[in-house]
Amino acid sequence: MSIRIIQIFVVAIVLFASCGEKKKPAAEVDVVQNNKVLTAEEQSKLTPDKVIEILKKGNEEFTNNLLTVRNNMERVQDAANGQFPAAVILSCLDSRVPVEDIFHCAIGDLFVARVAGNIVNPDILGSMEFACKVSGSKLVVVLGHDYCGAVKSAISDVELGNITELLSKIQPAVNHSRENFEGDADVSNNDFVDVVCHTNVMFMVEEIRKNSPILKEMEDNGEIKIVGAKYHLHTGKVNFF
Ligand SMILES: [Zn+2]
Repeated sequence: MSIRIIQIFVVAIVLFASCGEKKKPAAEVDVVQNNKVLTAEEQSKLTPDKVIEILKKGNEEFTNNLLTVRNNMERVQDAANGQFPAAVILSCLDSRVPVEDIFHCAIGDLFVARVAGNIVNPDILGSMEFACKVSGSKLVVVLGHDYCGAVKSAISDVELGNITELLSKIQPAVNHSRENFEGDADVSNNDFVDVVCHTNVMFMVEEIRKNSPILKEMEDNGEIKIVGAKYHLHTGKVNFF
């Protein structure tokens, strides 16, 4: 092989290798390995307060841009044998609220129910009962977020197809907020939208207690907690109420 051919070979190898090189993120990030899916034994040892602590820590990691390298296929294989998620989260449909990401969670960690306006209905309640009573989750979180389109639509009395029925479930929070709010009680006022978002979450927490005797009893016995929380679109932070 001539020296010229060897040189071409070396250049080709260097070029090929650099194509596969991952770009380093602009911000400094810490990277940790985590390929473990929660086991039944680990889940049974969790308490509701411990799960809240885990979710808060996960959200802190998310907002600090901490990345976790996970071998997804390893987790897929492990989780295929059974699931033992720590919590069930009821979130809005909003694409800007990727639930697993914001809690720094992955396959097998959380049950997630999503519906516009994070409203409760019998199917959602059944799903939550399955998560806690059958599958052992320790925490129910109703997760609202600011600038919620569903909440804004309810404030503006939008009527359109099946959306009308959906928004009627947010209406009690709108009415209650209007009774207690001083200032412009419409979508032009972000403070008012914020109040309705918060009220809607807390009303849904009460709906769960009122319409699911199973979950209410579990909470009274200290087996689970039912809590509200809000995700902030600008900061990525979740505040638990
Ligand atoms: Zn929303």
